[in-house]
Amino acid sequence: MMHISKLPQVGTTIFSVMSALANKHDAINLSQGFPNFKSDQKLIDLVNQAMNSGYNQYAPMPGNLQLRQAIAKKYERLYETSYHPETEITVTAGATQAIFTIISTFIKQDDEVIIFKPAYDCYEPAVDLYGGIVKSIQLSAPNYQVDWDLVKKTITKKTKLIIINTPHNPSGTILKDTDMYKLQELTENTDIIVLSDEVYEHIIFDGLRHESACRYPDLKTRSFVVASFGKTFHNTGWKMGYCCAPKELMDEFKKVHQFNVFAVNHPMQKGLADYLEEPSHYLDLPNFFQEKRDYFLRLIKDSRFQINPSQGTYFQVLDFSEITDEHDVDFAKQLTIENKIASIPMSVFNEAGKDDKVLRFCFAKTHETLEQAASILNNI
Ligand code: PMP
Ligand code: GLN
Repeated sequence: MMHISKLPQVGTTIFSVMSALANKHDAINLSQGFPNFKSDQKLIDLVNQAMNSGYNQYAPMPGNLQLRQAIAKKYERLYETSYHPETEITVTAGATQAIFTIISTFIKQDDEVIIFKPAYDCYEPAVDLYGGIVKSIQLSAPNYQVDWDLVKKTITKKTKLIIINTPHNPSGTILKDTDMYKLQELTENTDIIVLSDEVYEHIIFDGLRHESACRYPDLKTRSFVVASFGKTFHNTGWKMGYCCAPKELMDEFKKVHQFNVFAVNHPMQKGLADYLEEPSHYLDLPNFFQEKRDYFLRLIKDSRFQINPSQGTYFQVLDFSEITDEHDVDFAKQLTIENKIASIPMSVFNEAGKDDKVLRFCFAKTHETLEQAASILNNI
């Protein structure tokens, strides 16, 4: 029955595959990106309070207004820009739904979409489903810098969407202001839409600044900024996120969103709205995760892996080329089954499975887990 498939090349995501393998072999799971510590009890209490005080029916289609107002305040505080809470912000079932809905709203047959590889895995299949054509630009390890001249050459009259992701999953690199100015310059006076996946906006290290697309006035006029509460507040299982865009773009998004999901989980929206009133809940995150990154890197500094410290996200890429020349997928599986530590092989996110001999490890874990992981990695 393969002829009925709209995605014949697509299998199960690497995140499900590696987490299942880790569980089967009782391995420490640093593969799929999720914390193994609890979300703040205060937030859990606020969600419970919301349920007990009656927030149990449909939220307004674009989201609970108090939450949209709290999101708008965050953008004013952090990025000195404003999104109108009533018309320019929509709460979604995780960033994944925002991304899928943006793509389904705008991509038609033969529209071209520029994606940088390695790329988070939900972008390309969504473009394929709507008949769009993915134009991949492969970035090179270990720095994964964007060659903007190449981007310029890749843009055509058919380019409808450019997808960027900063801080970048899986490489742990970030886009700098110079990158954003280049993107702004290349898209100025075009009808190109930008999807800026910023789910790790609060997980950025060494005093680096998160370059949200909304900081750049012309870029902002054509951009959707996508965010995830799951990544921000340590509860990926809640599947809560949102996106912001100028009204004209958001009106189109909402036409699809209303039939795609209508509205998302109401008590969680109310709990998150109350929790966002205290800015330290997101302002403290860079330090919180940098402490984990630094701890993990100190623990493995004498291992045979080569380390280029992550600049953002809760992922650390480790180069294993001095250990083996095995294919990264085989090596990741072997490490899971034999050494009891699971990671994500980076080639699955690359164009034509380019294998740079690097693995991605999630360090959003307790010290105890990081210590156990490090003792295994130091013996490889
Ligand atoms: N984009 C990137 C880059 C991600 O790493 C993830 C995973 N959190 C998502 C989007 C999806 O986020 P969510 O879990 O909120 O759907
Ligand atoms: N974003 C997570 C990661 O990169 C995984 C999310 C998922 O499993 N779909 O590991």
